[in-house]
Amino acid sequence: MSLGSPVNRTVGTSAAPPVGTALGVVAGAGRPGPSRIVAPMGDAVLDVGALAATRGGPHPELLGLPNLDGLLGAGRPAWREVVGWLSEQLADPDRLSGYLLPTLGVVPVLPFTVADYVDFFACEQHAANAGRIIRPSGEPLAPNWKHVPVGYHGRAGTVVVSGTPVIRPSGQRGPGDAGPSRALDVEAEVGYVLGCSDTAPGRPVPMDEALDHVFGVVLLNDWSARDIQAWESRPLGPLLGKSFATSISAWVTPLDELAAAWVEPPPRDPQPLPYLLGPTDRGLDLTMEIRLNGELVSTPPAADLYWTPAQLVTHLTSNGAPLRAGDLLGSGTVSGARREQRGCFLELSWGGSEPVALADGSSRAYLQDGDEVTITATAPARSGGRLSLGEVKGNVLPAL
Ligand code: CA
Repeated sequence: MSLGSPVNRTVGTSAAPPVGTALGVVAGAGRPGPSRIVAPMGDAVLDVGALAATRGGPHPELLGLPNLDGLLGAGRPAWREVVGWLSEQLADPDRLSGYLLPTLGVVPVLPFTVADYVDFFACEQHAANAGRIIRPSGEPLAPNWKHVPVGYHGRAGTVVVSGTPVIRPSGQRGPGDAGPSRALDVEAEVGYVLGCSDTAPGRPVPMDEALDHVFGVVLLNDWSARDIQAWESRPLGPLLGKSFATSISAWVTPLDELAAAWVEPPPRDPQPLPYLLGPTDRGLDLTMEIRLNGELVSTPPAADLYWTPAQLVTHLTSNGAPLRAGDLLGSGTVSGARREQRGCFLELSWGGSEPVALADGSSRAYLQDGDEVTITATAPARSGGRLSLGEVKGNVLPAL
């Protein structure tokens, strides 16, 4: 499995940007004991827990845990201390040699315990394209779409770390028809990792507090079986067409590391209700790249997302439902205005009718067994230039 260090990720780009200050969890490294919290550093990983314990870093009791759960529960002041300290450490690599573990030999594991997983549908281009494909004679957008951030509760227990193979799901594909999915797809999404103390039941999180509950960002691939999804989703939405696997990147990039990536959201008409407005209503300028077997097939722009992370957090709690540290919110498929910016094969192949031509002469409407999909992203770095958010990768295994 790959942690997404720059050396593993050079297909189609000249010089890959460095992975920014980020946190992940690995097992192995020839050392016994539980998994440990690490940070990316070139072709190695930094043992953050050991460094904090011996060099007087902040919150060594949290950074020495086997995953990020404790840190996620500690809240923004602790996150800011940790990220600031870690950035300073990474800027002085000569002092870190005793704390580096070679990437080869460590195995990334899920960096935090996923509490609840909610997947939204926050991109207008994706929602409209999906509407045109599924309801060609109707309005592209459902009447509620520009008023309410639409989403559904997903399956937290099948969120897996990048590199985990995905077994082609089987299920009902139509009336009297069952078997392996013939329309396995990806969805390139931004995942928002929530933390801070659990919120109180009955008390919505207002927009001006919403980002205090967002620790950071992962890249997310919402694997989707379109045939199973289409048959089962009427009227309650996705169930087995999505629940078999959702992949996230090994690295969680803290929001504090993305301070230069905030952008104004797209124009809204009509204006959202007042509870969804405020200075925190901003998007993140992430440029994503989707590769199929190493070949670049799409570059979705996350800055185009109609609903912003603060709006998703605020809306999710607007009925009084509390948050939990470890909640994972998916943005929904990110798609841009142009064909080469569409974030899933449903759109890239227009429902399968226009298969995507590949460099080797083959084409894809949807994924074949053996295919490997890698989603990467870059963002403006605080120090100028761009930083990488790592990658989320998975390959398709045949149905059992
Ligand atoms: Ca999705």
